[in-house]
Amino acid sequence: MTDDFAALLERGRTGDKRAVARLISHIEQGGEMARSVLTQLWPHTGRARIFGITGPPGAGKSTLTNALTKFWRAKGLRVGIIAVDPTSPFTGGAILGDRVRMGDLTLDTGVFIRSMGTRGQLGGLSPATAGAVHALDACGYDLILLETVGVGQSEVAVMEIADLVLVLNVPGLGDDVQAIKAGILEIGDLFAVNKADRPGADRTANELRAMLELGEEEKRPLPVLLVSASQGTGVTELCEELERQYLLLDGNGELARRRALRLRSELLTLVREGIEQRLLRPLLDSPMFAQSLERFQSRTESPYRWAEEFVTQISGGGPGYELHKS
Ligand code: GDP
Repeated sequence: MTDDFAALLERGRTGDKRAVARLISHIEQGGEMARSVLTQLWPHTGRARIFGITGPPGAGKSTLTNALTKFWRAKGLRVGIIAVDPTSPFTGGAILGDRVRMGDLTLDTGVFIRSMGTRGQLGGLSPATAGAVHALDACGYDLILLETVGVGQSEVAVMEIADLVLVLNVPGLGDDVQAIKAGILEIGDLFAVNKADRPGADRTANELRAMLELGEEEKRPLPVLLVSASQGTGVTELCEELERQYLLLDGNGELARRRALRLRSELLTLVREGIEQRLLRPLLDSPMFAQSLERFQSRTESPYRWAEEFVTQISGGGPGYELHKS
């Protein structure tokens, strides 16, 4: 089994997109399968630059991702794109499927595109997203673009996975910049106003600059660029600015700090999942739990001491509850 993964990785590194897709599918299965693949990939990760791109629906994220990718492809870099789509609560699948809009890029052997769902309606990344980033990193993609709709929790979660976040805005979203939620401003390392070919782009950019200056701990002015993804204007400048910001973060230790935090958060997620599966699941499924709930409901017992005692017992502080005894 391990050898199969090694072979897939080897093929992925030479640009075989089917092999990359297989690795990601294995990771999406979760459990022992994901663990085995990721363990094999791990020594090869940590090299890619990971850029997050977020903004309101229709801001032009896909169009811009397309344009940025072409710029970096022209420089000979391999680019991996993960488009995080809000998951439909009914189908549980990614609504937009594999991006049809990125048509011509899918033919480029140096570009890998994958859509992934979010965790439920409120957003947040599915646990496999970080794994997919590792897979692309290990397969030698130099740049990984993580594109997400700025709704719910997903843009904040992207920040946790990305080295650097680009927040996209557009003119004419009603109350202009106010349409960008304050929370989004905090996660941006740089900002771009797309659709600069339309009227009002300058004003939106200026309002954005003014809002950013209100930030309390303003250490350096965050760049706000004008771009037109569909016309191609300002794309080169934006790519160069992204590279410049990356080097800045790398130079001042911020990148290393973010990566350490990310690793810590990934580790915590793994440990939490393990605890939930091994300790909480059996409890939730046990008759003892159902009976305790009834006692809490009828107020014959309080849940507070019970919970504390339970934790003490499972952490080795006592003989432990006999979970499956009725
Ligand atoms: P997303 O939902 O943020 O990924 O946005 P899309 O990339 O799908 O773009 C939404 C719409 O805006 C599409 O019809 C694009 O053709 C259009 N669009 C994207 N960039 C520009 C631009 O720079 N100028 C103009 N006028 N339209 C654009």
